[in-house]
Amino acid sequence: MTFTLHGIGVSGGIAIGRAHLVSHASLEVAQYQIKSSEVSGEIARFEAAVKTVRTQLMQLHSEISAVAPSELSAFVSLHQMILDDAVLSIEPKNLIVSLQCNAEWALKQKADEVLERFDAIEDSYLRERRMDVVQVTERVLRELGGQQSKANALPTDTEQGLILVAHDLSPADVVEFKRHQFASFVTDGGGSTSHTAVVARSLNIPSIVGLQRARELIRENEWVIVDGTAGVLIADPDTRILQQYRQRKEIHESARRQLLTLRDTQPVSLDGVAVQLQANIELPEDVKQVKANGATGIGLFRSEFLFLNRSDLPDEEEQFQAYGEVIKAMNGLPVTIRTYDLGADKQIEGSQSTAVNPALGLRAIRLCLIEPHRFLSQLRALLRASTFGPLNILIPMLSSAPEIDQSLQMITRAQHELTQEGLAFDPKVRIGAMIEVPGAALALEMFLKKMDFISIGTNDLIQYTLAIDRTDESVAYLYDPLHPAILSLIFSIIKKANQHKVPVALCGEMAGDAKLTRLLLGLGLRNFSMHSAHILDVKERVLKVSIDGLQKIVKKMLRTREPERLRSLLEELNALEC
Ligand code: PEP
Ligand code: MG
Repeated sequence: MTFTLHGIGVSGGIAIGRAHLVSHASLEVAQYQIKSSEVSGEIARFEAAVKTVRTQLMQLHSEISAVAPSELSAFVSLHQMILDDAVLSIEPKNLIVSLQCNAEWALKQKADEVLERFDAIEDSYLRERRMDVVQVTERVLRELGGQQSKANALPTDTEQGLILVAHDLSPADVVEFKRHQFASFVTDGGGSTSHTAVVARSLNIPSIVGLQRARELIRENEWVIVDGTAGVLIADPDTRILQQYRQRKEIHESARRQLLTLRDTQPVSLDGVAVQLQANIELPEDVKQVKANGATGIGLFRSEFLFLNRSDLPDEEEQFQAYGEVIKAMNGLPVTIRTYDLGADKQIEGSQSTAVNPALGLRAIRLCLIEPHRFLSQLRALLRASTFGPLNILIPMLSSAPEIDQSLQMITRAQHELTQEGLAFDPKVRIGAMIEVPGAALALEMFLKKMDFISIGTNDLIQYTLAIDRTDESVAYLYDPLHPAILSLIFSIIKKANQHKVPVALCGEMAGDAKLTRLLLGLGLRNFSMHSAHILDVKERVLKVSIDGLQKIVKKMLRTREPERLRSLLEELNALEC
């Protein structure tokens, strides 16, 4: 039976294909029988995995510095206790014997038993400890080599026609999907600027988040239409609807082909204002798309994605290679690399946050500054890569003067070390701050005095200004880039930066929304950074506008407080002949 679901379209276009349900249980393992002669070997394999994880946790515990927050050590101790509980470390062995099954399966059965008990607990704090059980189990599974990532668990032969339907996906899951060729994916959870949605946009396939019950209602292999522009999903469509959407898909694709002819045109407005249209990337391989869409540089390389989906961490050398590869490939165009913004919804494996509010906790620069060694190795890698071309280093989530000073001191320290070691770097590398915390926007002078440039991170600026968790679909309806507070903050940041002659860019999702291009130009923005897939749409808008003609309506918008009136003024602005 045909039915329709509405969510938040995060990436435009239409996809038509068969649904493939991605399990939302992170503990997915295969079950297989073993011979009775293999039982003792299987038990030994299980014991070795538990032993390795025990050693890892002990090592982790001993490495926690004395100044680290006490929760960190309590968190590791808790994981040690969970691992040592007989249910996870002894009872699986009994199952291996009685069921003659593989160790992964035995462990999973026992973990599920514990998790079920957690689900029944009323106390919310205790219920949240469920995640710790999952993480410990995942660690052992990884050691057993039996846990597949969500992406690897998928069929590869027919993937081009597949629509992935998931309850929720982490940004790390989505980045793994980059290596595959799905037609589309949709999730029940997530807001339009959650990192999951942000990465989804870079896949350049139609996708929808916040559908709420898709995973429950859609059946495996069912035909599904995804309209990523409208945020609409149609399950089990009849032939008439299918026909209509096939036509719409064709129209959309031919419009995209047409846009490609603008690739090499310089983004200059009708009244001669030159605009930078730069690209946001997550991994070095994204540079292909950057070039295919004619970006004028890279405005945001979210370097933390190099740290996800792996059990070890990239060392200085590996990072140097990755940053160098990107800078070289851009052939003299500017490249802005953001120091890692880990924490909140982007956690390295095995270090899931136990914070009640991770987005307000040890995230981004805060995490860097309490882990100076890791930060220093990234800074050294960045500086060394600066010999390959123009590099800007961007620091995320700065909010206070001491953080600015400490970050700059760390960069000076890295430069000093490299000089001592005789390793080359460009002493003129520009250092910038992301302005994404309202306090930073309101005390901007503090940044303008010390930084070479700033970049407005509207995804977080909106999240923090309007107090809306960007990953929570239940408050996604409040996430409003046109909120008067947001417009006036963006305007004041651009104005103050211009007064101080400090270059200012905007790299949040707003930059890639062509409906907002005229508004941002009217607010004074000249440097946009967005996912490659949006560059040509935005360029088309830039080429067809005279910026001077926008001022009157934009000024009116800045004075307006009523949401409906703001929306109608935006329509007026976009319809203006100029
Ligand atoms: C932002 O916050 O606007 C931004 C660009 O950074 P991220 O989306 O990675 O938090
Ligand atoms: Mg941000």
